[in-house]
Amino acid sequence: MATLFTKIIAGEIPADIVYQDEHCVAFRDINPQAPVHILIVPRAEIPGIADVPETGDHQHLLNAARKIAEQEGLAGGYRLVINQGVEAGQTVDHLHVHLLGGRAFSWPPG
Ligand code: AMP
Repeated sequence: MATLFTKIIAGEIPADIVYQDEHCVAFRDINPQAPVHILIVPRAEIPGIADVPETGDHQHLLNAARKIAEQEGLAGGYRLVINQGVEAGQTVDHLHVHLLGGRAFSWPPG
């Protein structure tokens, strides 16, 4: 089923795209929780991290995150978040990594 993010990847819904390659597309979150808040979304329609096969290669998401963090000048650090399921607050059922930076983060997360 096509998700909101599938439509953004297809260019049917506008987004502030900051990075893309053959595996994924990254764009700024519409409701940023930090000065830098970017979503890294695989082109493949995978509902969440729970659906990634054990043998699946999703290293590319981390590679993209590292490149984008460098691109955004986040030398002081950043946080990567994947929300899986209702209790974690996942609202879009298309796997995505949140890249957050530009401020200090507390631990544990809320
Ligand atoms: P999650 O709650 O982990 O599923 O994350 C979904 C994220 O998508 C939220 O942080 C939303 O703010 C973000 N979001 C929803 N609609 C859009 C949109 N049209 N463009 C960019 N980000 C969006």
